Amino acid sequence: MKQCPRSAPRAPWVWMYHSVDEYVSDPHKITVNPGRFEEQMRALARAGLRGVSMRDLLSSRSRARLVGLTFDDGYSDFVTNAVPILQRFGFTATVYVVAGRLALSNEWDRDAPRKRIMNADQARAVELSGMEVGSHTLSHAHLPALEPDEVHREVTESRAILEDVIRSRVTGFAYPYGDVTSREVNAVRAAGYQHASAVKHQPGANGTFAVPRTYIGDVDGPLRLLGKRLHFEYWRARGTTWRRSSA
Ligand SMILES: [Zn+2]
Repeated sequence: MKQCPRSAPRAPWVWMYHSVDEYVSDPHKITVNPGRFEEQMRALARAGLRGVSMRDLLSSRSRARLVGLTFDDGYSDFVTNAVPILQRFGFTATVYVVAGRLALSNEWDRDAPRKRIMNADQARAVELSGMEVGSHTLSHAHLPALEPDEVHREVTESRAILEDVIRSRVTGFAYPYGDVTSREVNAVRAAGYQHASAVKHQPGANGTFAVPRTYIGDVDGPLRLLGKRLHFEYWRARGTTWRRSSA
């Protein structure tokens, strides 16, 4: 007798931010004004959706009304500008911190304005507020370009530093530049993480350890957000496979 195939889990919708701040120059379009960010959170709430951290999203049984909110690099403006707005809506989020740059800045990005990375006290406060602190490597490295021992170091030492700082487990990771191959997926899994965020859908590396994300920028008002939602729903409806716990 044939067995009924189990229905595949639905890929979750995850938004990707970097910085929430007033700005003048932003060549890579990684900054969202606080007023715009609040409008985007309001649009989520009005659509009956709730923004949650990756930890909350992936541990939830029913993800239908949940949207993952993620912030790469660990800028201190996450603490000062994003967290108060998230808390106003009862939302949580994941911030992926470049662990070797605590209290320093985004020197890896030569063309962009300098932005401060959060310090250890701020990272601890973020975790205590119910938000999730994840790793974004030690140095914001292009991982696929590194030797295996360097990948291992970026993945494991960043986790150890952050766990020491926040005095809690770090289970989330994000690949700088979204650069990920199956080698990086295996390194992240072997290091003890439970989930990891990519940027684009990676052929052969989708699922919990390479979660594709939707970029959200300052241009994204309610109408553009609706367009992005429809685009995502279309992508998901095309039957893209999603693997709960493998690469
Ligand atoms: Zn980054």
